[in-house]
Amino acid sequence: MTIPFIEPFRIKVVEPIKMTDRAERVEILDKVKNNLFKVPAEDVFIDLLTDSGTNAMSDRQWSAMMVGDESYAGAKSFYKFEQAVKDILGFPYVLPTHQGRAAEGMLFSKLVKAGQFVPNNRHFDTTHANVMALGAHPMDFSVDAAEDSAIDPPFKGNMDLEKLEVFINEVGAENIPLGMLTITNNSAAGQPVSMDNIRKTAAMYHRYGILFIIDACRFAENAWFIKTRDEAYAGKSIREIVLEMFSYADGCTMSAKKDAIVNIGGFIGLRDEKLKLRISEKLIIHEGFITYGGLSGRDLEAVAQGLYEGVDEDYLRYRESHTRYLGKVLQDAGMHVYQPTGGHAVYVDAGKTLPHIPKDQFPGAALANMMYVEGGVRTVEIGSLMFGHKDPASGEMVLAKNELLRFAIPRRVYTRSHLDYVGEVAKDLMAHADTIRGLRITWEPELLRHFLADLEWV
Ligand SMILES: *Cc1c(COP(=O)(O)O)cnc(C)c1O
Repeated sequence: MTIPFIEPFRIKVVEPIKMTDRAERVEILDKVKNNLFKVPAEDVFIDLLTDSGTNAMSDRQWSAMMVGDESYAGAKSFYKFEQAVKDILGFPYVLPTHQGRAAEGMLFSKLVKAGQFVPNNRHFDTTHANVMALGAHPMDFSVDAAEDSAIDPPFKGNMDLEKLEVFINEVGAENIPLGMLTITNNSAAGQPVSMDNIRKTAAMYHRYGILFIIDACRFAENAWFIKTRDEAYAGKSIREIVLEMFSYADGCTMSAKKDAIVNIGGFIGLRDEKLKLRISEKLIIHEGFITYGGLSGRDLEAVAQGLYEGVDEDYLRYRESHTRYLGKVLQDAGMHVYQPTGGHAVYVDAGKTLPHIPKDQFPGAALANMMYVEGGVRTVEIGSLMFGHKDPASGEMVLAKNELLRFAIPRRVYTRSHLDYVGEVAKDLMAHADTIRGLRITWEPELLRHFLADLEWV
């Protein structure tokens, strides 16, 4: 018997979702100036905006929350949380934060100075913004394969080590306070990074005396891809692979809203106690005392339990095949699906899917808005609306490397029939794709413009 994939859980609590009609959705989108971030969630039927914090928790997580210790200092729940991070990621020092961006903000503010450079395979939007906010420069060195949505090598999330080394020599290691690697590479279509590349990236940073920090949000999915795509690791357990991945790093920033399967939370993992103490001062001012970091005791409990569930192999097998299934459904609907599908999301190459829309009219955002109008499906553009910015030196507009539309899948939330519905909507939309218009910005904030910008149809 072959089972394509099956949910390794059953449903105990349900949440009704509301179907709207097309005319209502046209009106709703118009009212929020064509920015899906501003659509009330109640007016969305299938919400694939993000996999961040949108996860369904297990009965064990909910029951762990009931024993949350809400003491200000030294709560039992903190020690459980710390133990889970030690067990699974192997970092001896852990600082909780309210989410991933706070972990980045706290760590960077102690290490990064204006004018310096932070390399990464590809920065996520908040990581990018946290570096920029300090007057420093986020630099991306993904392998070229990441820009080609049609080819499917196994580890398209990798760092291009040659480009990285040229850059380090160009600006000087003394101007690089830390180097990062994002696993999986969210901004490059959720593609994984190989163990070999993690090891070599670490070795390069360390050869130049640069601190190596992993952006760890989807570490469990990355480990699953290593296990299933690299023969040398086929016989290893996910737990072993995860420990090896982190063994090369000096620290990590983590959004627990991803692979710890919770709704809020994050942390910084470190090996250096002195650095932990430096960041602790900052943490106490901005997030809270070092044993809760902006979270309640019950949140810490949910993260601790969720970390173990996130590395469960049955869960990861289901997770990957569920995502792959959506990729197939969208491909069959006629969209150009980025190959191979990642762990947490399916990325559609909107530039290729809507070739008549110029890049500076945001084909990804146009396709996203029309998926909403067509069927109440909310997705997110990962392209020039999100990453386009004025080059500080030349003043010229820099567009994104790819115009992608991301269908992110909340963990343990939607079933296969929800995915089939998304496929039907995509099919209907693709039947009149050539009539979809581009968008232009009528107002934008300085940083992270995609969240708040107002847009109009061209
Ligand atoms: C989500 C995410 C972050 C930021 O985490 P938040 O919890 O949303 O603040 C950082 N890096 C990557 C790769 C992410 O996916």
